[in-house]
Amino acid sequence: MSQTILVINCGSSSIKFAVVPEKTTLEIESKIPRFRRSGLAENLGTPEALLNIIDANGEKTSIAIPDADHQIALTHILKTLGDEQLIAIGHRVVHGGEKFIRAVQINTEVVSAIRDTIPLAPLHNPANLLGIETTLKLFDDLPQIAVFDTAFHQTMPPQAFRYAIPDDLYQHHRIRRYGFHGTSHAYVSQRTNHLLGSSNHGWISAHLGNGCSTCAVWQGKSLDTSMGLTPLEGLVMGTRSGNVDPSLHLHLVKTLGWSLDDIDQLLNKKSGLLGLSGVSNDMRTLSELAKTGHASAALAIDVFCYRLAQSVAAMSCALPRFTGIIFTGGIGENSAEIRAKTLALLPHFNFHLNDAKNQKMVRGAEGRVDQGNHKSDDQDNDQNDHQGRQIWVIPTDEEGQIAQETRGVLGL
Ligand code: AMP
Repeated sequence: MSQTILVINCGSSSIKFAVVPEKTTLEIESKIPRFRRSGLAENLGTPEALLNIIDANGEKTSIAIPDADHQIALTHILKTLGDEQLIAIGHRVVHGGEKFIRAVQINTEVVSAIRDTIPLAPLHNPANLLGIETTLKLFDDLPQIAVFDTAFHQTMPPQAFRYAIPDDLYQHHRIRRYGFHGTSHAYVSQRTNHLLGSSNHGWISAHLGNGCSTCAVWQGKSLDTSMGLTPLEGLVMGTRSGNVDPSLHLHLVKTLGWSLDDIDQLLNKKSGLLGLSGVSNDMRTLSELAKTGHASAALAIDVFCYRLAQSVAAMSCALPRFTGIIFTGGIGENSAEIRAKTLALLPHFNFHLNDAKNQKMVRGAEGRVDQGNHKSDDQDNDQNDHQGRQIWVIPTDEEGQIAQETRGVLGL
């Protein structure tokens, strides 16, 4: 039995987990099966609490765990692991502030630093901490590692991470841009570099899922990203607005008498694709509706792609050289339509999409979908300009990346 890492992503009422095999995911050519076991415990703390497990053959089982809290759910997850030989646990932690620039082994000091960061991520860090504290009790003999969503972006220069607001707010309250989805941007850019055999590239990675962000990655380091102090900044997302005029808040308060909670709900839960279309936050649904002539579904897609193209153009300012774009996340990996529509809005950027390859790239497929040479490594700028920028689709593997970083911290 090989030694494995348990990856845990704890939300306020859910726990996602995966048992990741020994080999580092960057080197795995076939990703099936990706995990020896994975699953989701959801609706925790309610009578509907449910544990869904998927085994290495893709077989699904669901176990009702009524009223289970995080500790009970984790005990159930532990039981399903059978004779799995765990060597460590990797925890996803959303916000590491400026303190954590890489993954770290968890001890009491790390727990208290994550707690100190709660004001920056009031919804996520308390849930992540709950998961950490529960697993520390249940698995006190295993090393546990915290892997932060923000850490990858700690290489951003001040010109990218500072807001143009008074210095005091940064110096004393740490108000700045942090960026998120770091695990995903790190994985897909490293994976693409691995496939090309060099890290001497400048990528714009577009993570397009329910949450969406772009990231400029130069020689493996994040130089800018579209999310900011919170995951609300930037692109149009499933239910999040992304960028709006900062005075929108004031306008809603003054003209409509809205409260801060109303505005928070509006921008985080009722906007984005859902707000624009009025029907759904799901890109598949919108795509189908747009084909039947649904005008607001079509508008939601148009705004999504236009704002994404704008962000790609903006991110290109951060890169000394722009090798190409990487699409990932549920939309980025599966929607040939969104990839094509977005790239068509960037005519000055020398992207030449191969339509046939683009159409085939769905459901976990990985590869290059431009018209260039698959294995070419464009060390030379002229060749790059001649061939066009590279366009890749890389299925993200956040659990695999967390497991890899966990092994990295432990020197395994
Ligand atoms: P994620 O958060 O990465 O799971 O991504 C969720 C998003 O991916 C949702 O908006 C889904 O509609 C979208 N998605 C998944 N499959 C497809 C598909 N085949 N075409 C378009 N969007 C998809």
